[in-house]
This record gives sequence, C-alpha cells and structure tokens, in this order.
Amino acid sequence: MASPPLEPHVVIFPFMAHGHTLPLLDLSKALSHRRIKVTIITTPSNVKSISENLAYHPNIIILPIPFPTDIDALGLPRGIENTSQLPSMDFWFPFVLATKQLQKPFEQVLQSMRDSKSLPMCVISDFFLGWTLKYCQDFGVPRLVFHGMGVLSMAICKSVLVHRPHLKAKSVSEPLDFPGLKLPFVLYTSELPEMILQVGDANDPFSQYMFEVSEADINSWGVIVNSFEELETGTVSSFESFYEKGAKAWCLGPLNFYEKVEGGVANNYISEVHINQKKQGLVLTEWLNEQGTLGSVIYVSFGTQADLSGAQLDEVVFGLEEAGVPFVLVVRSTTWSPPNGLEERLKGKGLITREWVDQRQILSHRAVGGFLSHCGWNSVIESISAGVPILAWPMIAEQCLNAKLVAEGLGAGLGIKKVKDHSGSGFEVSRQAICEGVRELMLGGEKGRSAKERAQALGRVAWRAVQKGGSSYQALGKLADQLRASS
Ligand code: UDP
Ligand code: UDP
Repeated sequence: MASPPLEPHVVIFPFMAHGHTLPLLDLSKALSHRRIKVTIITTPSNVKSISENLAYHPNIIILPIPFPTDIDALGLPRGIENTSQLPSMDFWFPFVLATKQLQKPFEQVLQSMRDSKSLPMCVISDFFLGWTLKYCQDFGVPRLVFHGMGVLSMAICKSVLVHRPHLKAKSVSEPLDFPGLKLPFVLYTSELPEMILQVGDANDPFSQYMFEVSEADINSWGVIVNSFEELETGTVSSFESFYEKGAKAWCLGPLNFYEKVEGGVANNYISEVHINQKKQGLVLTEWLNEQGTLGSVIYVSFGTQADLSGAQLDEVVFGLEEAGVPFVLVVRSTTWSPPNGLEERLKGKGLITREWVDQRQILSHRAVGGFLSHCGWNSVIESISAGVPILAWPMIAEQCLNAKLVAEGLGAGLGIKKVKDHSGSGFEVSRQAICEGVRELMLGGEKGRSAKERAQALGRVAWRAVQKGGSSYQALGKLADQLRASS
C-alpha cells in the first residue's frame, strides 16, 4: 500500500520586531489552516507573546534558539530580544548585526530536521536575516523572503539601488525617473528613505549589511507580500523584474483578514496573562461603544518603533484637543506624561493609553473613522482593510513612500504638514497642523470625505481579495499546492 503523502512542512523565521513578526504569524495561521505544518523560529523571550498570539493554533510549533550573548562589542544592552524594547533607534543596527550570530543555531535546527527527515519544503525568512540563504542552499531548501513592505515601496527601493535615479536628477526639484516603473505620484530625492540612500558607501557597515541582505534577497525563490494585487496594479511585474532568477512575488494579503475569513478569533492579541492589557482593552471597547456617532473617533498610534520626543507628544495632544474630535491615543514613551490638567480637561473626549492595544479591533470598531498613523506598512494595510482613511505622518524607513501611496496614489488619506527645517522646537509636526489635518479628515471637509470614500471602497476590494476566488486567496492556494507538490 502506498504510504500517505508527507505533510508539507514550512519553517518561518521572522525578524524580532513586532511589525515583522505579526504578519508572519497571520501567515502561519493561514498556512496551518491549509494543513501545512509550520515551525516558527524565534528567540526565548519572544516565545511568550508569539505563543499567546497563537493560543488557538496548537499545531504551530514555536522553536526558540538562544539569543546571542556576544553582544558587548556591538554596544547592545543585554536582555533585549525585540526591537520594540531598544532604548532608542540608535541601537537598531547593532541589534540587526547581533542576529548574525544566530547562524550556528539556525544551521543546527536544519541539521536536526534533516536527521529526523523533516526538512522543510521552504524557509520563509525575513529580509534582514539575509544570512539564512546560505544555510537554505546548503540544505537544499528554497528560501522565500519577507520584507514587511508593500510592492510599490519595495520596487522603488530596488530601483534606487540599481538605477540611482537621484544621482541622475539635475536638481533636487527634478522629479525622479525610475526606469520601467510607473509611479502613481511624483517623487523627489528628499522623499526617498534615508536608509536606502546610504547604501553604496563601501566603508559604511550598514551599507555593507544592506548589500548582503539584498544579494540574498534577489537569490531567493520568491517573495511573500502582505498586500493584494488590486492595490499594487502595475508594479508587481516591475518589482519581480529585479529578481534575475525569476522569483515570484506572492501577494497574499491582507494577511490579518484570514482569521476572520476562516472563522477564527480575529484578535492579534489573546492573553490570560496580561491582565492590564485585557482590562485596558475592555475600557477601550466600552469607551468606543459609548461614542454615539458612526466614524467619529480618530485612532492615533505610531507603531512599535518610532521615538517621539516629549515636546512632540505635547503637540499631539494639544492638537487633538484643539481639533475637538474624540480620539484614542496610544503612547509608547515611558517617560512622557500629559501636560498638567490636560487629562482632566479631556475626560470623555479622548482616551490616552500606554498598553498594547488590539489595533485591528479598534480600526474595525464602527466608532472609528480615521487613523493618524506613522504609515508602517502593517498599519496601512490594516487601516485599508478596515476601510478607515489615514492622516499620514511618516517617520522612518520606507514610511514616507507608504504615506505618498496612501494620500496621493490611492487617495485614501491625507498628508500631514511638517515643520520645515527642524526649527529647534523639539517637534516636527505642530499642534496647528495636527488640528487642521484631523479636522479636514474627520469633520467632513471635501478632501476628507473623498479619502473616506476611497478607503471604504478599498476595504471592500481587500475583503474580496481574501475570499474564495479572490486574488490573494488564489495565490495562497497556489503557494500551498506548490509546497505540497514538492513534498
Ligand atoms: N504584545 C502583544 N502581542 C503581540 C506583541 C506584543 O500583546 O503580538 C505585547 C507584549 O506581550 C508586551 C507588549 O505587547 O506585553 C509590549 O511588548 P514589548 O515587547 O514591547 O515589551 P515587553 O512586555 O516584552 O517588555
Ligand atoms: N500594534 C498593535 N497594538 C499596539 C501597537 C502595535 O496591535 O499597541 C500592531 C499593529 O496593529 C501592527 C504592528 O503592531 O500590526 C505595527 O506594525 P507597523 O508596520 O504598523 O509599524 P512598526 O511598528 O513596524 O513601525
């Protein structure tokens, strides 16, 4: 009798930053639902939040490998295993460098899988863990890469590295030309991500690292993208053209939708342990329930990486107060507290929280009608999924490109005005700009109304993409079939 076909096995290795891990946990659940066995590699102190997130998915295996201890020379404080815990973004690159020391344990994982005849059909590795490619090749396992970015931003970054359009422009006010890439907006040198402009300097360690990870990237078997084809019209094939070996970009998103589609629990946080977070979640939901008007609340959050100064946070709350629009503000800073008397004045009008919140749940609450966001890609895709327009305030990495896509390319948001040439005031966006932007988005200004309509329309397209027959649903099915066929 023929033996039953082996269950295909996939290893997922996320970079240890919430924004890079969460979408891959969504992907794990979606693959597991399609009867693909998933093993997630991480380091010990990330196990807790990952296992809580996967509480209803006991079949997904979490495999911890030790975090490097040889980190003093990198200037990295001990005990930190996730970028959200770094004292400041200055430690971000040392943290990335430390992950290079995970090579040996990663090799040992693959070796023991080979010994037990359970080598995976593929490894899905974060872009920043470029060194995983070598071991994948050694063990004959295809590597899929995950950047945590949208296709358009990835295509622009690749084009900057290959074509150097900013060096060809005659002046800073000349729109950049990206050969073979049609952008839905005009882009200038000042709007390119700094980290990409830095690449090319042979003496700069960051530049070298980016070069290594980019090499690994273009030699991978394919790319996993948390986006959907309808959102990236015209860019997917330009992006794929940078992969000389014909890698395919698998647009599988919005990944956060699959649990809803498959009837699971849609939260991205499930905890029996974090009592405070749970309590806060209940307070928040109750507060949102009490807000009578549909779409009247603006949700304000800047993700898990951005550092906002105290002066900037003061401007944010003063701006929100002045706008007179009810708000939920999530603050990461542990040192900032609201200016004297403000919390008292805001009672009932705004809620400030320091806890981890369930962002997806907030965005899909009927009371929420706008998102003041730093435009991290997850936040963008989650807002679009929920049909919520964005007031875009990009801060780091490729967020400036995401913000342009949202506001100018898709018309599903507005850009916020920044103060020119850092005035020394300790903030980049003034309370007036926040007040004006929030009012325009939330109080029925013409631009705000149009952004809302576009966001809602995109939300419907996003939902269709993950339904049976939709573009992402089909792509996920094809990927699962390919993995099964090679097992
Ligand atoms: N967290 C969560 N779900 C996630 C990721 C993080 O609930 O998917 C929680 C995490 O458990 C922690 C909080 O968010 O309580 C902040 O996480 P971080 O790693 O920044 O801080 P930690 O609690 O580890 O010091
Ligand atoms: N997030 C959340 N609750 C929080 C803070 C963040 O659920 O209190 C989630 C958010 O929904 C998103 C991710 O964390 O999925 C942040 O990723 P994003 O790309 O938006 O920004 P980053 O943190 O990488 O800058």
